[in-house]
Amino acid sequence: MNAVKTKDKLKEIVKTLRVDVVKSLAEAGSGHLGASLGLADVFAVLYFHIMRHDPQNPGWEERDRLILSIGHVAPVYYAALARSGYFSVEELKTLRKLGSRLQGHPGRDHGLPGIELSAGSLGQGLSVAVGMALAAKLDRRSWRVYSIHGDGEMQEGSVWEAAMSAAHHKLDNLTALIDRNFVQIDGETSRVMEIEPLKEKWEAFGWKVFQCDGNDTEALIETYSKARAVAGQPSVIIARTKMGKGVKTIEDDYRWHGKAPSPEEAEDFIKQIEDENV
Ligand SMILES: [Mg+2]
Repeated sequence: MNAVKTKDKLKEIVKTLRVDVVKSLAEAGSGHLGASLGLADVFAVLYFHIMRHDPQNPGWEERDRLILSIGHVAPVYYAALARSGYFSVEELKTLRKLGSRLQGHPGRDHGLPGIELSAGSLGQGLSVAVGMALAAKLDRRSWRVYSIHGDGEMQEGSVWEAAMSAAHHKLDNLTALIDRNFVQIDGETSRVMEIEPLKEKWEAFGWKVFQCDGNDTEALIETYSKARAVAGQPSVIIARTKMGKGVKTIEDDYRWHGKAPSPEEAEDFIKQIEDENV
């Protein structure tokens, strides 16, 4: 698909994704709001600018793969897929409904086009991403793998085993992104289990590390472009985001990790998103 070029258009898409998230969660009455809002810029940049993909042909062999390890941000994933044209925007209303293709965590066997991995058990996505990137290398294919992880996931040992393996195999066709919002379900990451110094850890594991503002579409585009140019080693972007971004009254509040807005709150949140000056 053609990349969206203009800055304003991308920012408009980010807002649209955030509004979709709030609406679908309010309709469902449950779901994960905070990080879904915080990652809207990343999803907009990947699906509308960076990734090579074709919504009309979801199984296209040459497509770039998005491995979503942080499966509970499914609402923003679904919104990005729908707005890209994988399925109708109308279907977003079925989030978490019985029999829906849009379950609380993405499942490959629910028949929803565009889903690469059934996710929800945290800490597993990087291993899958490494396997896919290695397969592309072995087959001498040019497609790339992009993965998205929560910062809380950095507390999982399997992440580091996968990280070691990616560097060993020199997987420069893999770019991971860490949603560095400093919070997880139970509070601040530093309180639950400190993960710093994160940059130094990834470097020690042989990765090229980038850091950027994950709520700045231009910074993300620039950083992804640099990551794509890295040769001989995998790359990771530590992206500083705000949980609940776009809704000022809940930003950085971990209590909105897994909570849905009431209909009245949703109305207020949507207004805040639309009024935000970006
Ligand atoms: Mg987090």
